[in-house]
Amino acid sequence: MKTQMQREEELISSGLVDSVKNLFQNYNVNIPEKYYILLADYVDSIGQLDFEDGLYLDPVQIARKLPSVLTEVAENNIGGIYGRTDGTKITMNPNLDYLTNKKYFFHELTHALQTRKVDNHEECSFYNGQTGMFLTEGATQFTAEILANISNGTNMQYRQQPNTVRGHIEHTPYSPLSEYQLNGNMLLLLSQSMRLPINQILALGFRNDGRQMLGEMYEAFPGKQGKFEEFMLDLEKIYTIDKLLIAGYGSQLQGDPVNIEMQNGYKFAGNIKLQGDLINKVERNLAADFIANNDTDYIIQNYRQVASYLTTPELKQDFILAVNEVILAQNEQMAQELSTQEPFNNQPKINTEEITPSQFSKKTQDLIDEAEEFMKRSTQEQVVEQTPNNNYDGIISILQNPDLTDEQKTALLSEISNSPNGYVGGKSR
Ligand SMILES: [Zn+2]
Repeated sequence: MKTQMQREEELISSGLVDSVKNLFQNYNVNIPEKYYILLADYVDSIGQLDFEDGLYLDPVQIARKLPSVLTEVAENNIGGIYGRTDGTKITMNPNLDYLTNKKYFFHELTHALQTRKVDNHEECSFYNGQTGMFLTEGATQFTAEILANISNGTNMQYRQQPNTVRGHIEHTPYSPLSEYQLNGNMLLLLSQSMRLPINQILALGFRNDGRQMLGEMYEAFPGKQGKFEEFMLDLEKIYTIDKLLIAGYGSQLQGDPVNIEMQNGYKFAGNIKLQGDLINKVERNLAADFIANNDTDYIIQNYRQVASYLTTPELKQDFILAVNEVILAQNEQMAQELSTQEPFNNQPKINTEEITPSQFSKKTQDLIDEAEEFMKRSTQEQVVEQTPNNNYDGIISILQNPDLTDEQKTALLSEISNSPNGYVGGKSR
């Protein structure tokens, strides 16, 4: 792990910090020295991404874009949250240590780079002014943490993270993220179901047509035509209810469904229970898509990972059972094809590698045993590291902040939420 001094020294001595400053020289901007170094750090970290597990991004292009997306970086107490982006201004909490500040500045900078004005509304990454913030926040945090790890010379640490889905103790994400863990899990499930590497999904977030491309790929699978918007709306309801929980409406959301209005005017009746049902629905559908969209060999190779991203023991168990059925079905088919094959026929044979039906059954049984063993392990898995659940981007509850007067709290809350039934969708947090 590199120290702050080592990292800053290498960025300054390489001339990169000066190069980044030069990019801004003809612009009227207000950026403290500390943040020029972090801008150089972001660009340099992008340059160090490898094509194996990194993002497909061009550091020069990103660097050139900076002066048009960033005019000001300020440090102000913003109600306890880490940072926020308003147009071309990023505000960071002044009380963060170096590593935390870096990670969340990278998060806000990613928002700034991905935000675009379309007609008279803002779009950002997968957000089209209507839905998409759920995936946007997950992708933004994923991108920021990949880059921060590169910058620090460390690796992403996947870990069980209980108590990180607000309002839902029953869901435990398995995620390398220190924020938006559930969002990250959904991205990982989406990546597996569409067989699209997570790095490519993250890179789509930097493209103006990223949402459209993701939607086209999603709908290209059998039975998925016309289903992308419904998927995005389900996720947005989860995100909206989460925003309301952050803003302190937990008690109102415990009981019967209440009327909730999204910033775009879309209304739905929702509560914590609906949110839980939607989380289950989306995870179930993505796991089913993984089975439907992929061939058996790919399923056998990757089902363990998919199971690990499902957030309850029930979801994992149902998924493993479905995978077992696929394996059994293939076994039956193989046995049948083998028994009907005539000796010495010249037809091309299926690639059985001289596996006899009984041997194949053995192989299948091994797989099923392994799957069951995996199930046992994954439900018993110990918590490696736990992130406190009161430190979300945008979240340390404003209402509980002793440093704020009631007027300040009201003002901050009204920024997050227009009304008790409203929420902020477009504002990048
Ligand atoms: Zn954000």
